[in-house]
Amino acid sequence: MKLKIVKGTRDIRNEELVRFQIIEKSAEKIFPLYGYNEIRNPIMERTELFAHGVGEETDIVGKEMFLLEDRRKRSLALRPEGTAQIVRNIITNDLMKQNKTLKYYYMGPMFRYEQPQKGRYRQFHQIGAEYFGVETPDADLELILMLRHLFNDVNLKGVAFQLNSIGCLKPNCRPQFKSNLVQFLKDNQHNLCEDCQKRMTTNPLRVLDCKNEKCIQIADGAPKIYEKICDECAANFKDLQNLLERHNVKYELNEKLVRGLDYYSRTVFEVYSSNLGAQSAAGGGGRYDGLFDIYGAKTVPAIGFALGLDRLTMLLDKPKPKSEGFFVIGANQEAVIKLVSEVRENGQKCLYDPHFASMKSQFRQANKAMAKKVLILGEEEIKNNQIAVKNMGTSEQITISTDQLNHQFDN
Ligand SMILES: [Zn+2]
Ligand SMILES: [Zn+2]
Repeated sequence: MKLKIVKGTRDIRNEELVRFQIIEKSAEKIFPLYGYNEIRNPIMERTELFAHGVGEETDIVGKEMFLLEDRRKRSLALRPEGTAQIVRNIITNDLMKQNKTLKYYYMGPMFRYEQPQKGRYRQFHQIGAEYFGVETPDADLELILMLRHLFNDVNLKGVAFQLNSIGCLKPNCRPQFKSNLVQFLKDNQHNLCEDCQKRMTTNPLRVLDCKNEKCIQIADGAPKIYEKICDECAANFKDLQNLLERHNVKYELNEKLVRGLDYYSRTVFEVYSSNLGAQSAAGGGGRYDGLFDIYGAKTVPAIGFALGLDRLTMLLDKPKPKSEGFFVIGANQEAVIKLVSEVRENGQKCLYDPHFASMKSQFRQANKAMAKKVLILGEEEIKNNQIAVKNMGTSEQITISTDQLNHQFDN
């Protein structure tokens, strides 16, 4: 049998895993400070949850969703993102009935079926948070502050945000902007890329964030959406900017920042770090006040963000391996294992050589394991109820009596 990993997936271990854990632990520490509870949703959902939510003509459903069929030929999807299933959970359990607001965060693998390329996987990893029940920009502000807090905590430098408002569905707001935009695009049609020629009718806003060189140039001259939105949306956007300034959040307006789907409204943002450069975002978010309606439920204002861990982890400084814990060296199996257990039960990391090789070899292993201290149990020490303690950093060696062992522990 030939063992082979599935295309577009990978095993995460050692130093890369440490980077993942740095961000995950930081999120676990920081998000609850803002009142967010973790939620663990299934990896699989019925395909219609996403098909319904994100619309048939988007790329996610069109070609990117990772679909499976169960034995009864029902279509299941490996989740492409985290928001829809949290909304599903809230609706099916009627959670907004007992709560005026709800806050959830999640972390875990997401899936898409596309050609893997550098840094893009079929199984990728996200951390996200969703805030339900608050219509005012306080919710937007809080999410942005929480993201800044996280980035600072994991030492990502130069956190900055890009911000846009894509208005609402009132006729004098986004719909009017859209028809202005379509008119503008028609005038420039022959210079647009092939995809954008199609998007012009299916999803014209998305032309604004096309990465094609020619399309970027055309988008530069396009009408700016935040200048065209309705008065309420404009006031809301101004409020958010004032709040951000009061909290010293660095941001820039970016009129090309859009979401193509109708259930998105008002605030859209992306977060950048100077570790990453100005070109690509580490994550992004936005308001989706219309998503509950799509599922036929009562309207719930909502905003959330998601971070791509696979890329974010590459930005962290190389984790420094640090020496820690103990390594017990000796030839007397019973005495060694007894001491190892005692150290572990005191909450300290402790290793030993299960093959009981030569002293020299055991020392080499202690070095490789980066033990801070080596506890040596020679015949002499065992006879006298003593332990020789070698500090691997200073090479200093002392002999202690066994009942003094706890003085060697870190607290
Ligand atoms: Zn509006
Ligand atoms: Zn294009």
